Amino acid sequence: MSLPTVTISQRGVDRVLSGHLWIYRADVLDAGEADAGAIVRLQDRRRHFWGQALYSSKSQIALRLLTREERPFDRAFLAERIGAAASFRPQVVECAQAYRLVSGEGDLLPSLIIDRYGSCLVIQTLSQGMERLKAQIVQILQEAFAPRSILERNDVAVRELEGLSEQKGTLAGESISEVEVEENGLRFFFDLMGGQKTGGFLDQRENRRAARLYARGRALDCFSYTGGFALNLARACESVLGVDTSPEALNLARRNQQLNGLNNVEWMEANCFDFLKAADQAKHRYDTIVLDPPAFARQKSNLEAAWRGYKELNLRALKILNPGGFLVTCSCSHHVSEADLLEIIADAALDARRTVSVVERRTQSRDHPILLTVPETHYLKCLILRAL
Ligand code: SAH
Repeated sequence: MSLPTVTISQRGVDRVLSGHLWIYRADVLDAGEADAGAIVRLQDRRRHFWGQALYSSKSQIALRLLTREERPFDRAFLAERIGAAASFRPQVVECAQAYRLVSGEGDLLPSLIIDRYGSCLVIQTLSQGMERLKAQIVQILQEAFAPRSILERNDVAVRELEGLSEQKGTLAGESISEVEVEENGLRFFFDLMGGQKTGGFLDQRENRRAARLYARGRALDCFSYTGGFALNLARACESVLGVDTSPEALNLARRNQQLNGLNNVEWMEANCFDFLKAADQAKHRYDTIVLDPPAFARQKSNLEAAWRGYKELNLRALKILNPGGFLVTCSCSHHVSEADLLEIIADAALDARRTVSVVERRTQSRDHPILLTVPETHYLKCLILRAL
């Protein structure tokens, strides 16, 4: 069966040569017979072959490179890629039953996310091409892992850019929503159907463990979600306060606290910006503070507002941090680089009249691989700072 051919410009070829996996619509000269979500052959004007890609008829990211090889990207090839991703995980996932099995571009499976929560798998197919492969992916996962359940959490706004509707539900096996799994020696409930993302923020797993190493005294976990950081801190601190705007998240956080028999944690439903301001005014002080806000800059156009948001949060946190205390501060906006975040915090520290040292510069957990030539795959920054 011959594949549709898409002709790309020299700039498109340069993208491939630069090691990136995305080719923008502006660099497509002729989409030929390619229909929405097709696997296509890439060629340049001189008909030189450049690889095979997923074609999108709608997104600005018109092509997502699957391989530079001529070998057909069939079910066996797809299964091989998923297998390769899975076989790397035991090397980087320690003490956790929930982790990212396939991390999209980072595993050369662009726009495909597969998260494992114990015996359940949760998938996201975020492009027309992956959506078309979904049934095959489910079959491959059943054969390779025999999961109790496979769910889809395709209720994400980015699908709109692909002209895909939002969907969630069980794709195979039992209808399960809640699972209980272990992470870093703690037990957590995850709400796979109702929770944020695929249920949990697996990219912060290693940072939650790292934070525990420094945590002490009175601790504050801002943007606590279901208590991922807070419960780790609780193991090392006298007391912990977790703050989040989501009542559903806090309900699960309370249940997670009980599940682990921890009695030194409290929760508050509040906006963290307001909370931090009030805490400063009330002269409350903490020895350990975690800031893990949602992405403030999903697009480049939001960059300025994001910069202000990060500055304000970090400024307020530094004001209420005791001398010798630790600030664990994160950004999951790809558009805010580590250098940017360091600059923002330096600025905040000057305003707060605090001297701050960098104890660790961290990133997303290693089951979310960063491709050297695809900068978008490096999105999470986590700095562990000590205020003098
Ligand atoms: N630290 C968590 C993940 C945090 S995700 C973990 O390790 O699991 C970001 C959280 O911020 C979400 O739970 C969301 O409900 C919450 N949130 C978003 N805006 C907020 C705000 N202004 N104030 C408080 N919480 C907020």
